[in-house]
Amino acid sequence: MDQLAFNYCVPPAVRRRLVSVAGMEQVCRQWRERFSAYWGRDFVLRFTDNSSTMISYRKRKGIMELRLHNMFIEADDRVLAALGAYLKGSRRGNRRLDQFIQANADKIGRRRRKSKLNSKGQYYQLENIRDALNQTYFKEPVEVPVIWGRATNKRRRSSIRLGSYSFADQLIRIHPALDDDRVPAYVVAAVVFHEMLHHVVGATRRGTRRMVHTREFKEREQAYLYLDKALAWQEKNLSQLLRSPKRRVAPA
Ligand SMILES: [Zn+2]
Repeated sequence: MDQLAFNYCVPPAVRRRLVSVAGMEQVCRQWRERFSAYWGRDFVLRFTDNSSTMISYRKRKGIMELRLHNMFIEADDRVLAALGAYLKGSRRGNRRLDQFIQANADKIGRRRRKSKLNSKGQYYQLENIRDALNQTYFKEPVEVPVIWGRATNKRRRSSIRLGSYSFADQLIRIHPALDDDRVPAYVVAAVVFHEMLHHVVGATRRGTRRMVHTREFKEREQAYLYLDKALAWQEKNLSQLLRSPKRRVAPA
């Protein structure tokens, strides 16, 4: 049953390889455990990003097959109780379900532009780097998408941001200049690690200022084994790398 349930709950984010399969398996398992308080029977679960149907279910061979929009992954217990009641044929929780769906309307049909979410480079596969860092440095896997940024056509670049983390999009972008066989893997990994920490540590406010490189952040960054080596490499080679961009055409 577990295997079956798992096959049935691979949401689009996983299919697009934004969340690792292992990470999603855990999400589904936790969700099932939470929901079992409101639905005591066996069921097959699948999360979708369907833009018109938020909840659908049918019975097959006596087992309910439940399809829910991704927004339900983060539903609180009152919403799960309402959902359980709804599936049992009661209208008691309908208002709460309507309110929940309305409150999450911005998540409906918000498909990411596939072509812009490119984590595969010519030399470095950013998801593999993220997953390797997860294995070594994080107890809970950090499920943040990490993609190659787009190359800019500025001819003279005196400074460069090798990576950035968008709090609004929860997305890491890595500068495409690093997708180069002259760049050691530990340098790329150092940049990805730095941005993953932004995702994990978050920001603190001091007055109107948003602090991201906090003391905690800097301490945690030290955990990366090749930090000094990576910084030294950057200092020595980066300007050279930017002066002679790679001789390849950007991937389509
Ligand atoms: Zn930073």
